[in-house]
Amino acid sequence: MSDIVAALRAALGDRVLTDPETLAAHRRDYWALAEIHDLLGRGAPPPRAVVRARSTEDVAQTLRICRAGHAAVIPFGGASGVCGAIEATPESVVLSTRGLEGLVRLSDHNLTACFRAGTLGIDAEERVRQDGLTIGHWPQSVALSTVGGWVATRASGQYSTGYGSIEDLVLALEVVLPDGSVLRTRETPRAAAGPDLRQVFMGSEGTLGVITEVTFSLRPLPEASVGQASHFAAFDDGIEAIRRIMRAGWRPPVVRLYDALESQRTFAAWCPAGRSLLILLHEGPASAVKEEVEAVAALSAAAGGDEADVACVGHWLEHRNSVPSFRELNEQGLVVDTIEVACTWDLAPRLYADVTRSLRHVPGILMASAHTSHSYRSGTNFYFTFAVRVEERERMPAAYRACWERTMNASVAAGAGIAHHHGIGRVRRNWLVDEIGDAGVALLRDLKRALDPDGLLNPGVLLPPPGPR
Ligand SMILES: Cc1cc2nc3c(=O)[nH]c(=O)nc-3n(C[C@H](O)[C@H](O)[C@H](O)COP(=O)(O)OP(=O)(O)OC[C@H]3O[C@@H](n4cnc5c(N)ncnc54)[C@H](O)[C@@H]3O)c2cc1C
Repeated sequence: MSDIVAALRAALGDRVLTDPETLAAHRRDYWALAEIHDLLGRGAPPPRAVVRARSTEDVAQTLRICRAGHAAVIPFGGASGVCGAIEATPESVVLSTRGLEGLVRLSDHNLTACFRAGTLGIDAEERVRQDGLTIGHWPQSVALSTVGGWVATRASGQYSTGYGSIEDLVLALEVVLPDGSVLRTRETPRAAAGPDLRQVFMGSEGTLGVITEVTFSLRPLPEASVGQASHFAAFDDGIEAIRRIMRAGWRPPVVRLYDALESQRTFAAWCPAGRSLLILLHEGPASAVKEEVEAVAALSAAAGGDEADVACVGHWLEHRNSVPSFRELNEQGLVVDTIEVACTWDLAPRLYADVTRSLRHVPGILMASAHTSHSYRSGTNFYFTFAVRVEERERMPAAYRACWERTMNASVAAGAGIAHHHGIGRVRRNWLVDEIGDAGVALLRDLKRALDPDGLLNPGVLLPPPGPR
């Protein structure tokens, strides 16, 4: 194994890091269970080495050398993933993309911008804003995550209802395959040239290749941006209002409905107790925004909504990217996480009721709540939050797993999709078969074997372990 480090050093020089501080900072992602394991003193070990690639060729060389030396390679962006998709082992090499930074080219005429994959989301957005443009992708983790990580996790931002998720925003990719060869898809608005290879890597979580460049299709900054809010006697009434808004063809970028618990937790000043708050943000040409606001007001009222003070939208905008610290909560004896799933409209009331009811059976549960934040013509997502008080720290992992099992099992039983935007990682891999079936899992395994025959790229992630569940 030390031969690997020597070989990497010979090829890549000071881009290969083995100092304890760097290794410690590249052990894992933001997974809540990894944080609990750290607290219990049995967190992921540091990797053997970290390669901070500065070019596509650096990535290709790293993959070739590690393949020849049979070393596992873990692609690492901002490490903001929340599903355990990064977990080092003492033999592994972590391949950080953070040295692959910055704008490659921007065309205002075509509304395109190509960034190196390790560029932080916020930096990419700020760069295109200098030219009056926007990517329109706003995950809450925009300041922590990289554009390559967005693609690798199949991410979805807070403005997705109007602007789309990452698969709608990416025009082209450059990807280094596990054998070191480089795949580039064409910057073209659409292609009927066989299957869309970009999709192979969207959601691949570092298991099929390393994304080195991402070209976005941009938008001009909107002329108008207008908030709107209403509250409903029942969460399901708010869901029905969103369904009618989507069905009518209106597309506000932000459409968020909070159940009564979350409305009180975050918006008590603007929402009467027991009611569910719906907040929206409309963007676009001023005349179109005006028309949308009026139409949405009428549809909300028809579904039982009462207009709410629009100041709650400003409150949300101000706080929307604050990042919670799992460690602080864990130290107070609390196990907390969020789980996002998706379903068609007909399943929504049952899914919300079944998951929250099932979570309430977990011993020590303090809270099981949800909001919906990404809607479509045919359905929506739910973003469940749970908090459990655990007296003995040793019991925290079991409490965590119990909440996940209950949420996943209730979602599968209701017929919902198991993951809306955080991905699979380690936490969901046992339910992948419920999502895509035995044939789907077998196809993914074949694809993995074809691209990465020795299984060296981010092993343990995405695919369920072989054998019975
Ligand atoms: C507070 C908080 C809020 C969040 N909010 C959202 C949200 O609103 N929407 C959302 O979608 N997600 C959200 N996330 C999850 C996370 O930010 C996203 O999954 C994000 O896309 C991960 O990007 P990253 O660069 O941090 O990837 P990492 O965590 O570094 O990696 C994630 C996975 O992708 C792989 N990977 C990373 N870069 C590459 C690459 N260049 N090539 C190949 N594989 C790669 C890694 O191996 C790993 O499997 C949130 C996370 C936190 C902590």
